Amino acid sequence: METKLPDTCLSLPPASLRLRLDAGALADNWRTLDQMSGAARAGAAVKADAYGLGASRVVPVLAAAGCRDWFVAHWSEVPSLLAHVPAQSIAVLHGPITDEDVLFAQRSGVRPVLNSIAQAARWQAAGGGTCHVMVDTGINRLGIAMRELGHPVLAELDIDLVLSHLASADEDTDQNAAQLARFRQVRAGVKGRRYSLANSAGIALGADYHADLTRPGIALYGGIPRRDFAGTIRQTAYPEVALIQTRDLSAGDLVGYNATFIADRPIRAGTVSIGYADGYLRCWSSIGKFSFNGKTLPVIGRVSMDLVILDLSAVPECAEGDWLSAEYDLPTASAATGLSQYEMLTLLGRRFARL
Ligand SMILES: *Cc1c(COP(=O)(O)O)cnc(C)c1O
Repeated sequence: METKLPDTCLSLPPASLRLRLDAGALADNWRTLDQMSGAARAGAAVKADAYGLGASRVVPVLAAAGCRDWFVAHWSEVPSLLAHVPAQSIAVLHGPITDEDVLFAQRSGVRPVLNSIAQAARWQAAGGGTCHVMVDTGINRLGIAMRELGHPVLAELDIDLVLSHLASADEDTDQNAAQLARFRQVRAGVKGRRYSLANSAGIALGADYHADLTRPGIALYGGIPRRDFAGTIRQTAYPEVALIQTRDLSAGDLVGYNATFIADRPIRAGTVSIGYADGYLRCWSSIGKFSFNGKTLPVIGRVSMDLVILDLSAVPECAEGDWLSAEYDLPTASAATGLSQYEMLTLLGRRFARL
């Protein structure tokens, strides 16, 4: 992420957009989920740069809290973890698709999640080694099918973790019990050292779903995928943005692209350095809120690519260069915008300083 400047004496001024991480809340969330996992241990899904929070910040915090198992989606996500945790503790969910993937896994020690019989055969043909196996118990997305469980290549593998993934753990639906029943068949039929089924929401479904290892993601970062987590899981990610201009509007002034807001009175307005290119999408137009000194400041008019305009009437003391916080409590913000809590985090863009 660091960009080198041609003249090494030059250093970049601080960013005008930052994503504050509450490391204490993050560690507490992991401990809460680990406790809720009962006899199972909690690992951590840290794919997509730890859901946008920054894997290089998140992983050391979770490792210090006691987390020992890490899940990323892409091989390209491995380097940001390798500086902090042992290769053997990293699982790549998308599996080895190419010979280069296989070679990388075998040389680095990072564990591939084998998602098909073809991948299992490729892994064995290249010499094998300890791996993980994903079995599809009903999401029909990634993983070996139930009817393939008797394939002889599976018996040859040295499997650490046998995983499956729940499709609807955030709902009360018969699909959960159906997947659990199939997962029991998987446990009987595929020999691994450990078994894992539950994501964040699955942890709340009870001990039957916990197996040996749980794989929370969204709830680590403050998401509430089921009501069971309300009051225990804490917000961890706080977008903060600099005020870069203030101006005094008169009644009748038009605000922002397409003039979707018209001042009905004199208003002190402010422009902040965030926009849809940063993941603060246009759905926040006219409904987003920021805060300063405990006062709430509504978004007026349209969100543009790099800028958002606020009504600063409640904070006459707020001046250029001050930092404002976006209201970004995930369940509330998700209900307000229709974005999922996952999208709200993973959209947050590259211009945020993740300090
Ligand atoms: C993303 C992911 C998780 C984490 O899911 P959350 O709903 O964020 O807790 C767990 N397992 C797998 C296979 C995943 O892809």
